[in-house]
Amino acid sequence: MTSPVWHPFTQHGLNEPIPHVVRAEGATLHLADGSSLIDGISSWWVTTHGHCHPRIAAAIAHQAGQLDQLIFAGYTHEPAEAVARGLVDLMPQAPGRDPLAHVFFSDSGSTAVEVALKMALGYWHNRALDGLGEARSRILVLEHSYHGDTIGAMSIGERGVYNAAWTPLLFDVGTIPFPHPGREQETLAALEVACAEQPAAFIVEPLILGAGGMLIYPPHVLRAMADICARHDVLFIADEVMTGWGRTGTLFACEQAGVVPDIMAVAKGITGGAIPLAATLATPRIFEAHRSTDRARLFYHSSSYTANAIACAAAAENLAIWAEEDVRGRIAVLTQGITDRLAVLADHAAFANPRQIGTIMAIDLIAADAGYLSDLAPRLRAFFLERGLLLRPLGNTIYLMPPYCIDAQQLDAVFAALVAAGDYFG
Ligand code: PLP
Repeated sequence: MTSPVWHPFTQHGLNEPIPHVVRAEGATLHLADGSSLIDGISSWWVTTHGHCHPRIAAAIAHQAGQLDQLIFAGYTHEPAEAVARGLVDLMPQAPGRDPLAHVFFSDSGSTAVEVALKMALGYWHNRALDGLGEARSRILVLEHSYHGDTIGAMSIGERGVYNAAWTPLLFDVGTIPFPHPGREQETLAALEVACAEQPAAFIVEPLILGAGGMLIYPPHVLRAMADICARHDVLFIADEVMTGWGRTGTLFACEQAGVVPDIMAVAKGITGGAIPLAATLATPRIFEAHRSTDRARLFYHSSSYTANAIACAAAAENLAIWAEEDVRGRIAVLTQGITDRLAVLADHAAFANPRQIGTIMAIDLIAADAGYLSDLAPRLRAFFLERGLLLRPLGNTIYLMPPYCIDAQQLDAVFAALVAAGDYFG
Protein backbone atom coordinates (compact mmCIF):
# COMPACT_ATOMS: atom_id res chain seq x y z
CA MET A 1 0.00 0.00 0.00
CA THR A 2 1.37 3.43 -0.84
CA SER A 3 1.76 5.78 2.12
CA PRO A 4 -0.28 9.00 2.30
CA VAL A 5 2.67 10.73 4.00
CA TRP A 6 4.18 13.67 2.08
CA HIS A 7 7.79 13.99 3.27
CA PRO A 8 9.76 17.26 3.57
CA PHE A 9 12.56 17.98 1.09
CA THR A 10 11.76 14.67 -0.62
CA GLN A 11 11.15 14.16 -4.34
CA HIS A 12 8.61 11.35 -4.21
CA GLY A 13 8.95 10.84 -7.97
CA LEU A 14 12.46 9.45 -7.48
CA ASN A 15 11.01 6.54 -5.51
CA GLU A 16 13.94 6.51 -3.12
CA PRO A 17 13.63 3.96 -0.32
CA ILE A 18 12.07 5.48 2.81
CA PRO A 19 13.46 3.55 5.79
CA HIS A 20 10.93 2.79 8.50
CA VAL A 21 12.53 3.43 11.90
CA VAL A 22 10.95 1.81 14.94
CA ARG A 23 13.38 2.55 17.76
CA ALA A 24 16.56 4.49 18.46
CA GLU A 25 19.19 4.87 21.12
CA GLY A 26 22.44 6.84 21.18
CA ALA A 27 23.70 7.18 17.61
CA THR A 28 21.78 4.11 16.38
CA LEU A 29 18.47 3.87 14.52
CA HIS A 30 16.74 0.48 14.45
CA LEU A 31 14.68 -0.29 11.34
CA ALA A 32 11.48 -2.30 10.99
CA ASP A 33 13.33 -4.94 8.94
CA GLY A 34 15.69 -5.63 11.86
CA SER A 35 18.68 -3.75 10.43
CA SER A 36 20.20 -0.61 11.94
CA LEU A 37 21.75 2.67 10.83
CA ILE A 38 24.32 5.01 12.34
CA ASP A 39 22.79 8.47 12.54
CA GLY A 40 25.62 10.59 11.13
CA ILE A 41 23.70 13.88 11.23
CA SER A 42 21.87 13.67 14.58
CA SER A 43 18.55 13.43 12.73
CA TRP A 44 18.80 16.89 11.15
CA TRP A 45 21.27 18.27 13.68
CA VAL A 46 19.08 17.99 16.78
CA THR A 47 19.84 14.90 18.89
CA THR A 48 22.96 16.30 20.54
CA HIS A 49 23.25 13.73 23.35
CA GLY A 50 21.96 10.89 21.18
CA HIS A 51 18.49 9.43 20.74
CA CYS A 52 16.22 8.68 23.68
CA HIS A 53 18.52 9.98 26.41
CA PRO A 54 17.04 8.28 29.50
CA ARG A 55 16.97 11.49 31.57
CA ILE A 56 15.14 13.44 28.87
CA ALA A 57 12.73 10.56 28.20
CA ALA A 58 11.95 10.38 31.94
CA ALA A 59 11.46 14.15 32.22
CA ILE A 60 9.00 14.09 29.33
CA ALA A 61 7.07 11.15 30.81
CA HIS A 62 6.88 12.83 34.21
CA GLN A 63 5.77 16.20 32.85
CA ALA A 64 3.13 14.58 30.62
CA GLY A 65 1.40 13.38 33.79
CA GLN A 66 1.66 16.74 35.60
CA LEU A 67 0.86 19.56 33.22
CA ASP A 68 0.87 19.02 29.47
CA GLN A 69 -0.08 22.28 27.83
CA LEU A 70 -1.06 25.71 29.08
CA ILE A 71 -2.08 28.89 27.29
CA PHE A 72 1.05 31.01 27.62
CA ALA A 73 -0.52 34.44 27.11
CA GLY A 74 -0.59 35.71 30.67
CA TYR A 75 -0.03 32.28 32.32
CA THR A 76 3.20 30.52 33.23
CA HIS A 77 4.61 27.25 34.55
CA GLU A 78 7.80 26.18 36.26
CA PRO A 79 9.36 24.24 33.35
CA ALA A 80 9.26 27.41 31.20
CA GLU A 81 10.54 29.58 34.05
CA ALA A 82 13.38 27.14 34.72
CA VAL A 83 14.40 27.00 31.05
CA ALA A 84 14.28 30.79 30.71
CA ARG A 85 16.45 31.29 33.82
CA GLY A 86 18.86 28.61 32.65
CA LEU A 87 19.12 30.02 29.12
CA VAL A 88 19.82 33.54 30.35
CA ASP A 89 22.64 32.21 32.55
CA LEU A 90 24.20 30.31 29.65
CA MET A 91 24.11 33.12 27.09
CA PRO A 92 27.37 34.62 25.80
CA GLN A 93 28.43 37.64 27.83
CA ALA A 94 31.00 40.39 27.29
CA PRO A 95 32.05 43.46 29.24
CA GLY A 96 30.11 46.54 28.24
CA ARG A 97 27.48 44.55 26.33
CA ASP A 98 23.87 44.29 27.44
CA PRO A 99 22.98 40.71 28.38
CA LEU A 100 20.45 38.54 26.56
CA ALA A 101 18.03 38.72 29.47
CA HIS A 102 14.59 38.05 27.96
CA VAL A 103 13.35 34.76 26.53
CA PHE A 104 10.49 34.33 24.06
CA PHE A 105 9.49 30.73 23.36
CA SER A 106 8.37 29.21 20.08
CA ASP A 107 8.58 25.78 18.51
CA SER A 108 11.04 25.57 15.61
CA GLY A 109 14.18 27.22 14.34
CA SER A 110 12.21 28.93 11.60
CA THR A 111 9.75 30.47 14.04
CA ALA A 112 12.58 31.50 16.39
CA VAL A 113 14.04 33.39 13.42
CA GLU A 114 10.66 34.89 12.47
CA VAL A 115 10.30 36.07 16.07
CA ALA A 116 13.81 37.60 15.90
CA LEU A 117 12.85 39.56 12.76
CA LYS A 118 9.57 40.68 14.32
CA MET A 119 11.36 41.80 17.49
CA ALA A 120 13.86 43.81 15.43
CA LEU A 121 11.20 45.60 13.40
CA GLY A 122 9.00 45.95 16.49
CA TYR A 123 11.87 47.68 18.26
CA TRP A 124 12.31 50.31 15.54
CA HIS A 125 8.54 50.67 15.09
CA ASN A 126 7.95 51.38 18.78
CA ARG A 127 10.88 53.77 18.98
CA ALA A 128 9.39 55.68 16.05
CA LEU A 129 6.11 55.91 18.01
CA ASP A 130 8.16 57.65 20.70
CA GLY A 131 9.52 60.09 18.14
CA LEU A 132 12.98 58.51 18.36
CA GLY A 133 13.74 58.24 14.65
CA GLU A 134 12.55 56.33 11.63
CA ALA A 135 10.77 52.96 11.75
CA ARG A 136 13.53 50.92 10.12
CA SER A 137 12.65 47.76 8.24
CA ARG A 138 15.46 46.62 5.95
CA ILE A 139 17.22 43.37 6.88
CA LEU A 140 20.82 42.59 5.92
CA VAL A 141 21.83 38.98 5.41
CA LEU A 142 24.96 37.04 4.60
CA GLU A 143 25.21 35.45 1.16
CA HIS A 144 24.51 31.64 1.12
CA SER A 145 22.56 31.80 4.40
CA TYR A 146 19.76 29.46 5.41
CA HIS A 147 17.37 30.41 8.22
CA GLY A 148 14.38 28.12 7.67
CA ASP A 149 11.41 27.57 5.39
CA THR A 150 8.66 29.86 6.61
CA ILE A 151 8.06 32.96 4.50
CA GLY A 152 10.18 35.41 6.53
CA ALA A 153 12.94 32.86 7.06
CA MET A 154 13.02 32.09 3.32
CA SER A 155 13.14 35.81 2.54
CA ILE A 156 16.40 36.19 4.45
CA GLY A 157 17.94 33.01 3.01
CA GLU A 158 19.78 32.34 -0.22
CA ARG A 159 17.42 32.35 -3.19
CA GLY A 160 17.38 29.18 -5.27
CA VAL A 161 15.27 26.31 -6.59
CA TYR A 162 14.09 25.48 -3.08
CA ASN A 163 12.24 28.78 -2.69
CA ALA A 164 11.74 29.92 -6.30
CA ALA A 165 8.01 29.07 -6.30
CA TRP A 166 7.36 31.54 -3.50
CA THR A 167 9.39 34.50 -4.78
CA PRO A 168 6.27 36.72 -4.96
CA LEU A 169 5.81 36.27 -1.20
CA LEU A 170 9.40 37.03 -0.21
CA PHE A 171 10.63 40.48 0.85
CA ASP A 172 13.80 42.18 -0.39
CA VAL A 173 16.94 42.11 1.71
CA GLY A 174 20.46 43.51 1.45
CA THR A 175 22.96 40.71 0.79
CA ILE A 176 26.51 40.97 2.14
CA PRO A 177 29.13 38.79 0.36
CA PHE A 178 30.25 35.72 2.29
CA PRO A 179 33.71 36.19 3.88
CA HIS A 180 35.63 33.64 1.82
CA PRO A 181 39.29 33.25 2.90
CA GLY A 182 41.27 36.23 1.67
CA ARG A 183 38.10 38.21 0.89
CA GLU A 184 37.06 39.13 4.44
CA GLN A 185 37.74 42.83 3.85
CA GLU A 186 35.27 42.81 0.97
CA THR A 187 32.60 41.52 3.36
CA LEU A 188 33.38 44.07 6.04
CA ALA A 189 33.53 46.96 3.58
CA ALA A 190 30.15 45.96 2.09
CA LEU A 191 28.63 45.69 5.56
CA GLU A 192 30.00 49.10 6.51
CA VAL A 193 28.36 50.70 3.45
CA ALA A 194 25.05 48.84 3.98
CA CYS A 195 24.93 49.72 7.70
CA ALA A 196 25.42 53.40 6.93
CA GLU A 197 21.98 53.31 5.26
CA GLN A 198 20.40 52.48 8.62
CA PRO A 199 18.84 49.06 8.12
CA ALA A 200 16.92 47.47 11.00
CA ALA A 201 19.19 44.49 11.55
CA PHE A 202 21.86 42.16 10.23
CA ILE A 203 21.28 38.42 10.76
CA VAL A 204 24.03 35.80 10.57
CA GLU A 205 24.70 32.17 11.24
CA PRO A 206 27.77 32.55 13.46
CA LEU A 207 31.04 30.88 12.31
CA ILE A 208 29.44 28.37 9.93
CA LEU A 209 26.68 28.58 7.33
CA GLY A 210 24.89 25.25 7.51
CA ALA A 211 22.46 24.32 4.76
CA GLY A 212 24.18 26.84 2.47
CA GLY A 213 27.12 24.43 2.19
CA MET A 214 28.83 24.11 5.59
CA LEU A 215 30.91 27.22 4.91
CA ILE A 216 33.16 28.20 7.82
CA TYR A 217 34.51 31.66 8.58
CA PRO A 218 36.75 32.79 11.45
CA PRO A 219 35.72 34.32 14.81
CA HIS A 220 37.56 37.60 14.12
CA VAL A 221 35.27 38.21 11.12
CA LEU A 222 32.16 37.51 13.20
CA ARG A 223 33.50 39.93 15.78
CA ALA A 224 34.27 42.59 13.17
CA MET A 225 30.77 42.25 11.69
CA ALA A 226 29.17 42.63 15.14
CA ASP A 227 31.36 45.67 15.86
CA ILE A 228 30.34 47.37 12.61
CA CYS A 229 26.67 46.84 13.47
CA ALA A 230 27.18 48.21 16.99
CA ARG A 231 28.93 51.29 15.63
CA HIS A 232 26.01 52.03 13.30
CA ASP A 233 23.34 51.02 15.85
CA VAL A 234 22.13 48.23 13.58
CA LEU A 235 20.69 45.29 15.53
CA PHE A 236 22.90 42.19 15.33
CA ILE A 237 20.93 38.93 15.23
CA ALA A 238 22.69 35.59 15.70
CA ASP A 239 20.90 32.53 14.37
CA GLU A 240 22.41 29.80 16.61
CA VAL A 241 19.74 27.27 15.61
CA MET A 242 22.36 24.92 14.15
CA THR A 243 25.51 26.16 15.90
CA GLY A 244 24.08 26.15 19.43
CA TRP A 245 24.39 23.43 22.06
CA GLY A 246 28.07 22.70 21.60
CA ARG A 247 28.12 21.98 17.88
CA THR A 248 31.06 24.26 17.12
CA GLY A 249 33.02 23.31 20.24
CA THR A 250 31.65 25.98 22.57
CA LEU A 251 28.09 26.04 23.90
CA PHE A 252 27.28 28.86 21.48
CA ALA A 253 29.44 29.87 18.51
CA CYS A 254 29.27 33.59 19.43
CA GLU A 255 31.39 32.83 22.51
CA GLN A 256 34.41 32.16 20.31
CA ALA A 257 34.24 35.71 18.99
CA GLY A 258 33.34 37.45 22.27
CA VAL A 259 30.11 38.55 20.61
CA VAL A 260 26.85 39.20 22.45
CA PRO A 261 24.14 39.73 19.83
CA ASP A 262 21.12 41.97 20.40
CA ILE A 263 18.85 39.05 19.53
CA MET A 264 19.63 35.34 19.36
CA ALA A 265 17.61 32.39 18.02
CA VAL A 266 18.10 28.88 19.46
CA ALA A 267 16.25 25.64 18.76
CA LYS A 268 17.25 22.10 17.62
CA GLY A 269 19.38 20.83 20.55
CA ILE A 270 17.51 22.90 23.16
CA THR A 271 15.58 19.77 24.21
CA GLY A 272 18.47 17.45 23.41
CA GLY A 273 16.54 16.89 20.19
CA ALA A 274 13.66 14.96 21.72
CA ILE A 275 10.73 17.31 21.14
CA PRO A 276 10.18 20.64 19.35
CA LEU A 277 10.99 23.85 21.20
CA ALA A 278 12.77 27.07 20.30
CA ALA A 279 13.59 30.36 21.93
CA THR A 280 14.49 33.87 20.86
CA LEU A 281 16.51 35.85 23.38
CA ALA A 282 16.71 39.62 23.46
CA THR A 283 18.57 42.33 25.32
CA PRO A 284 16.67 44.67 27.68
CA ARG A 285 16.40 47.51 25.16
CA ILE A 286 14.46 45.27 22.76
CA PHE A 287 12.15 44.10 25.53
CA GLU A 288 11.72 47.58 27.02
CA ALA A 289 10.74 49.00 23.63
CA HIS A 290 7.71 46.69 23.79
CA ARG A 291 6.90 47.18 27.47
CA SER A 292 4.51 50.02 28.23
CA THR A 293 0.90 50.54 29.23
CA ASP A 294 0.07 50.93 25.56
CA ARG A 295 -1.53 47.78 24.14
CA ALA A 296 -0.53 48.84 20.63
CA ARG A 297 3.10 48.12 21.50
CA LEU A 298 2.90 44.62 22.94
CA PHE A 299 4.70 41.89 21.04
CA TYR A 300 2.04 40.47 18.74
CA HIS A 301 3.31 36.96 18.25
CA SER A 302 2.05 33.66 19.56
CA SER A 303 1.19 30.13 18.62
CA SER A 304 -1.04 27.58 20.34
CA TYR A 305 1.87 25.57 21.72
CA THR A 306 4.12 28.45 22.85
CA ALA A 307 6.30 27.10 25.70
CA ASN A 308 4.55 23.72 25.77
CA ALA A 309 5.18 22.36 29.27
CA ILE A 310 6.35 18.91 28.13
CA ALA A 311 8.85 20.43 25.69
CA CYS A 312 10.04 22.85 28.38
CA ALA A 313 10.52 19.95 30.81
CA ALA A 314 12.71 18.24 28.20
CA ALA A 315 14.69 21.46 27.75
CA ALA A 316 15.07 21.91 31.52
CA GLU A 317 16.46 18.37 31.70
CA ASN A 318 18.80 19.14 28.81
CA LEU A 319 20.13 22.11 30.77
CA ALA A 320 20.59 19.87 33.81
CA ILE A 321 22.52 17.38 31.67
CA TRP A 322 24.79 20.20 30.49
CA ALA A 323 25.33 21.27 34.11
CA GLU A 324 25.86 17.80 35.59
CA GLU A 325 27.38 15.60 32.90
CA ASP A 326 30.67 15.96 31.04
CA VAL A 327 29.07 17.04 27.76
CA ARG A 328 32.01 19.32 26.98
CA GLY A 329 34.38 16.39 27.50
CA ARG A 330 32.37 14.27 25.05
CA ILE A 331 32.43 17.11 22.53
CA ALA A 332 36.21 17.40 22.89
CA VAL A 333 36.65 13.65 22.31
CA LEU A 334 34.37 13.69 19.25
CA THR A 335 36.07 16.79 17.86
CA GLN A 336 39.48 15.10 18.15
CA GLY A 337 38.10 11.85 16.75
CA ILE A 338 36.87 13.68 13.66
CA THR A 339 40.15 15.61 13.27
CA ASP A 340 42.21 12.40 13.44
CA ARG A 341 40.12 10.66 10.79
CA LEU A 342 39.63 13.66 8.50
CA ALA A 343 43.29 13.48 7.46
CA VAL A 344 42.54 10.30 5.48
CA LEU A 345 39.87 12.07 3.46
CA ALA A 346 42.03 15.17 2.99
CA ASP A 347 44.61 13.00 1.18
CA HIS A 348 41.98 11.34 -1.02
CA ALA A 349 42.05 12.54 -4.65
CA ALA A 350 38.23 12.47 -4.87
CA PHE A 351 37.77 15.12 -2.19
CA ALA A 352 38.49 18.83 -1.78
CA ASN A 353 38.07 21.47 0.93
CA PRO A 354 38.16 19.33 4.07
CA ARG A 355 36.86 21.50 6.91
CA GLN A 356 35.84 21.14 10.51
CA ILE A 357 34.56 23.25 13.33
CA GLY A 358 34.01 21.36 16.57
CA THR A 359 31.76 18.38 15.90
CA ILE A 360 30.84 19.46 12.36
CA MET A 361 32.92 18.17 9.46
CA ALA A 362 32.43 18.72 5.74
CA ILE A 363 34.20 17.82 2.54
CA ASP A 364 33.40 18.37 -1.14
CA LEU A 365 33.30 15.47 -3.55
CA ILE A 366 35.01 16.44 -6.80
CA ALA A 367 32.33 15.39 -9.26
CA ALA A 368 31.21 16.49 -12.68
CA ASP A 369 27.53 16.37 -11.74
CA ALA A 370 27.83 18.33 -8.52
CA GLY A 371 24.92 20.78 -8.98
CA TYR A 372 22.13 21.00 -6.44
CA LEU A 373 19.61 19.49 -8.88
CA SER A 374 21.88 16.70 -10.10
CA ASP A 375 21.18 13.16 -8.99
CA LEU A 376 24.47 13.02 -7.06
CA ALA A 377 22.96 13.70 -3.62
CA PRO A 378 20.24 10.99 -3.93
CA ARG A 379 22.86 8.54 -5.22
CA LEU A 380 25.13 9.37 -2.30
CA ARG A 381 22.21 8.94 0.14
CA ALA A 382 21.49 5.51 -1.30
CA PHE A 383 25.19 4.57 -1.20
CA PHE A 384 25.43 5.45 2.49
CA LEU A 385 22.11 3.82 3.32
CA GLU A 386 23.35 0.54 1.81
CA ARG A 387 26.33 0.82 4.17
CA GLY A 388 24.20 1.35 7.27
CA LEU A 389 24.67 5.09 7.50
CA LEU A 390 22.24 8.01 7.59
CA LEU A 391 23.88 10.95 5.80
CA ARG A 392 22.25 13.69 3.74
CA PRO A 393 24.81 15.45 1.53
CA LEU A 394 24.17 18.99 0.32
CA GLY A 395 24.85 18.64 -3.42
CA ASN A 396 28.45 17.40 -3.55
CA THR A 397 29.18 18.50 0.03
CA ILE A 398 29.24 15.54 2.37
CA TYR A 399 29.07 16.49 6.01
CA LEU A 400 28.89 14.86 9.44
CA MET A 401 27.17 16.18 12.54
CA PRO A 402 26.94 13.12 14.80
CA PRO A 403 25.45 12.86 18.28
CA TYR A 404 28.13 13.50 20.91
CA CYS A 405 27.77 9.92 22.18
CA ILE A 406 28.86 8.27 18.90
CA ASP A 407 31.65 5.81 19.76
CA ALA A 408 35.04 5.26 18.09
CA GLN A 409 33.91 2.09 16.35
CA GLN A 410 30.89 3.84 14.85
CA LEU A 411 33.05 6.78 13.79
CA ASP A 412 35.45 4.35 12.10
CA ALA A 413 32.51 2.85 10.21
CA VAL A 414 31.34 6.32 9.15
CA PHE A 415 34.75 7.27 7.80
CA ALA A 416 35.17 3.91 6.06
CA ALA A 417 31.91 4.67 4.22
CA LEU A 418 33.18 8.14 3.29
CA VAL A 419 36.41 6.70 1.86
CA ALA A 420 34.36 4.12 -0.04
CA ALA A 421 32.23 6.96 -1.46
CA GLY A 422 35.40 8.73 -2.59
CA ASP A 423 36.62 5.53 -4.29
CA TYR A 424 33.26 4.94 -5.97
CA PHE A 425 32.19 8.44 -7.02
CA GLY A 426 35.61 10.11 -7.45
N1 PLP B 1 18.37 28.46 11.11
C1 PLP B 1 19.39 27.64 10.83
C2 PLP B 1 20.78 28.15 10.88
C3 PLP B 1 19.14 26.29 10.52
O1 PLP B 1 20.16 25.50 10.23
C4 PLP B 1 17.80 25.84 10.49
C5 PLP B 1 17.49 24.43 10.16
O2 PLP B 1 18.30 23.68 9.72
C6 PLP B 1 16.77 26.73 10.77
C7 PLP B 1 17.09 28.05 11.09
C8 PLP B 1 15.34 26.30 10.74
O3 PLP B 1 15.08 25.48 11.82
P1 PLP B 1 13.80 24.51 11.79
O4 PLP B 1 14.10 23.46 10.77
O5 PLP B 1 13.74 23.95 13.18
O6 PLP B 1 12.63 25.35 11.45
